[in-house]
Amino acid sequence: MKQTKIIATMGPASSSEAMIEKLIHAGVNVFRLNFSHGTHEFHAENIQKIRSISNKLSTPIGIMGDLQGPKIRVSKFENNQVELANGATITLDVAYTGLGNAEIVGVDYKELANDVTTGDILLLDDGKITFTVAKVEGQKIHCTVTQGGVLKSNKGINKLGGGLTAPALTEKDLEDIKFIATQNLDYVAVSFPKSADDMIFARRKLVQAGSKAQIIAKMERTEAVFQNLHKIVEASDGVMVARGDLAVEVGESLVPGLQKKLVRTCRRLHKVSIVATQMLESMIENPVATRAEVSDIANAVLDGTDAVMLSAETASGSFPLQAVQTMARVCTEAEKMVDHDLDNQFQQEKFANIPQTVAMSAIFSAYHIDAKAIVALTTSGSTARWMSRVISDKPIYAITDNLEGLNGMTLYRGVHPYLMPNASTDAAEQAHLACDFLKRQLILQDGDTVVLTMGDKVSKVGSTNTVKIVTV
Ligand code: PGA
Ligand code: MN
Repeated sequence: MKQTKIIATMGPASSSEAMIEKLIHAGVNVFRLNFSHGTHEFHAENIQKIRSISNKLSTPIGIMGDLQGPKIRVSKFENNQVELANGATITLDVAYTGLGNAEIVGVDYKELANDVTTGDILLLDDGKITFTVAKVEGQKIHCTVTQGGVLKSNKGINKLGGGLTAPALTEKDLEDIKFIATQNLDYVAVSFPKSADDMIFARRKLVQAGSKAQIIAKMERTEAVFQNLHKIVEASDGVMVARGDLAVEVGESLVPGLQKKLVRTCRRLHKVSIVATQMLESMIENPVATRAEVSDIANAVLDGTDAVMLSAETASGSFPLQAVQTMARVCTEAEKMVDHDLDNQFQQEKFANIPQTVAMSAIFSAYHIDAKAIVALTTSGSTARWMSRVISDKPIYAITDNLEGLNGMTLYRGVHPYLMPNASTDAAEQAHLACDFLKRQLILQDGDTVVLTMGDKVSKVGSTNTVKIVTV
């Protein structure tokens, strides 16, 4: 069974019921709704379809809302695009409301003129086009085109080295958060956070709106990765290595190293990580991946990421199903190459509390007795998350009676969540029922040794205090 989780972005290429079902069969664990595109109505329809198919297949599926954030964009051009020659001049005018042309174009971020100065380099359309700021005059930013090309309407603008003051949550994001709360989404990705405060603010807004979603910080700003990384990770439930914008802000050559550092930091701080963007970019148009893309996915798995993500490949590409099938195959093979050196990992560890100590003891025991599996009786899923911070070759079957806990575990590497109503209030009896349940699912067989974790009190959050090793 595949341990690494796959996130697929929803879009026109993937939103039919038939395609959602095929993608789940092919290995998708979490669907991402991109709030940069689509109406609330479109998202609500997709959520309803995903939930009903997940139900029909008895396969837990997570849903992640990805907020647009303060992505800075040029406005529209007369013919939807302009051709810019190297050395030409163009003015970005934050007060300009007309259609743009090769001389002047509006920008949707009003503070841009205050945030840039002569000599700054602006990267447009993920760095395909670059401007150097010649002079700032009131609301107007006069630029020289240093790398020309065709610039289309609404393309993004980044400043090399970061330093844009835009807050992470826009008015639109706050509206989207309210909608997300009504839809019980499992994860919310916050775009362009600069500091832990941005994440704390986002969580507060979600909680106020009644959402229990786990929050994911998209690492795509210079100050986020170089100044505030540790605190942002601590304030979040996980991070996304958002390699598209990150590469534009810090330069592409730093991204592979940052990816490794982020994944490592997340594991150490008991958070989840996602590697995203361009993982199978060529499959937007082709039915087969490049060798480099295959290697990229395998290396993300070896780095220890919880999940790998597809964006346009599944949202609007021509081969969404083939992309997921390829990703699943590559993950499964790469997982066989991972070294499991649990003894070394444990030497330095101090545990924070009783449930975490129980979770680690279970992993350690399962590894040394070479158990078939770990079975975690959990409510919120936190025991399973702690276990999954250590990469072992032991699958973790996490049994819960709580729907939010169930879908909230869909991102955790190596965790296979199952919903089982609590049939007994007696912990020993409940453990027995869980093993029977897994036997009926043909996951366990008579004679298998399994390591169970549970609490004295069934379905009480934070009560895990027991490791039990049994032959079923
Ligand atoms: P986006 O985020 O696709 O929402 O821009 C991911 C990235 O920047 O890599
Ligand atoms: Mn981005």
